[in-house]
Amino acid sequence: MTAQAVQQDELVAVIGLEVHVQLETDTKIFCGCSTDQDDAEPNTYTCPVCLGLPGALPVLNEAAVESAVKVGKAIDADIPEETRFHRKNYFYPDLPKGFQITQYDAPICQDGELEIEVGGERRTVGIERAHLEEDPGSLQHQGGNIDTADYTLVNYNRAGIPLMEIVTDPDFRSAEEVRAFLAKLEEVLEYLGVFDSSRDGSLRVDANLSIVSGDEVDDDGAIDDSTLEDANRTEVKNISSHKGAEKALAYEETRQKNAINRGREVEQETRHWDETRGITVSMRSKEAEKDYRYFREADLPPLQVSDWKEKLSIPELPDARRERFQDEYGLSEEAASKLTSTKQVADFYEDVAETFDPDLAATWVADNLLGELNYRDMAITDVEGRFDEFTHLVELVAEDEITTKNAEEIVLREMLDEGDDPETIIEREDLGKVDTGAVEGAVQEAIDENPDAVEDYHAGEDGALNFLVGQVMQKTGGSADPGAVNGMLRERRDE
Ligand SMILES: [Zn+2]
Repeated sequence: MTAQAVQQDELVAVIGLEVHVQLETDTKIFCGCSTDQDDAEPNTYTCPVCLGLPGALPVLNEAAVESAVKVGKAIDADIPEETRFHRKNYFYPDLPKGFQITQYDAPICQDGELEIEVGGERRTVGIERAHLEEDPGSLQHQGGNIDTADYTLVNYNRAGIPLMEIVTDPDFRSAEEVRAFLAKLEEVLEYLGVFDSSRDGSLRVDANLSIVSGDEVDDDGAIDDSTLEDANRTEVKNISSHKGAEKALAYEETRQKNAINRGREVEQETRHWDETRGITVSMRSKEAEKDYRYFREADLPPLQVSDWKEKLSIPELPDARRERFQDEYGLSEEAASKLTSTKQVADFYEDVAETFDPDLAATWVADNLLGELNYRDMAITDVEGRFDEFTHLVELVAEDEITTKNAEEIVLREMLDEGDDPETIIEREDLGKVDTGAVEGAVQEAIDENPDAVEDYHAGEDGALNFLVGQVMQKTGGSADPGAVNGMLRERRDE
């Protein structure tokens, strides 16, 4: 990570992450149960394999491996010739087998990296490893939290959903950087088509944070391994979003710095992020690695992955696409950023830009459509099936069949609110082709009826011009394009 000037007497936060992301596959990682479980009743998407019944054997889902290889390529990781699975043993009610199938000494991805941008500065975060594993079931505590609940229900629908655990180097120095990293990671995973951020619980984060003295940080921003090992660190669990991660880590950083400033030692422990109260609280002491008694999963043979790496390609990623949009379509950095915010937006923009002027397409997609969607708390995916209608509206504007103002303020809004297509709205609201003759007549009338304003206007007063435009708009019932009226009035003056 690039250096930032650090004062010797400053206390510096050192943060590393373990990010769990659910991979978007049709079925679970080791059985044929569907992952498409919207509003499912508890324990209805299960089978002997994901319930861990005696004698049931796992079969690896090819789609999960493909997704993992794509992630590895996107983060520029080493993908080994051969990868294998281990059992991680622990007893917990969400884990019916008494172990989780995961990867231990031969993960599918190692030594990757991801570039982030914070405060206008680009930095690279190291990714130590990323491996495949199965999600456990989920627990629902009734009448309280984990410590105070009357009883707890368990739902195994989630058990066996494919997960990727992505472990970063301790490269973060602030909660803000963590948030930027998680947002970037989500963006890349969505571009790859392996992840859906709108799915509840699809991204979960455990973070470890310790505080070191500024004089331990060298000029490149690096910190010695032994210093990091000596520093007492806490692990913060149960973070379920990138906004939550920023809040939890900012809280934890302040808590530890305050303890040190008061001369107290920070205890090495696991803490739980309490989202509702906005604090971290101490929880059970952390298991050490040896407690998990990792051993090879004998029911799954080692997997050769080198061929997959050769044959799988990945799409253009967000950073590359952003740069190409600036070069190819001459867009500003800001517009290119907005238009590549998700793969769907970028694909849609390119469709519209191919047919019309790229600038007009950018205004319509980045400003008008995204603005109106945002206002309604909708996403581009909500209108995916209506791209043809939307493109048709831009076409009508491009060909002067409708004014920009009417298209933006009436047709687009009614398309989103009522679900009608542009032609229906244009007919209903009587917004058809602008009658240029009528507008010209109205301009002449406004000039004839307001000699004083015309005089002021000839004297160069902008207020008088605006007044005349207003008069014409009134006479045409708002159907004229104010920009065009403005132009007509200027032309008459200059004649
Ligand atoms: Zn199953």
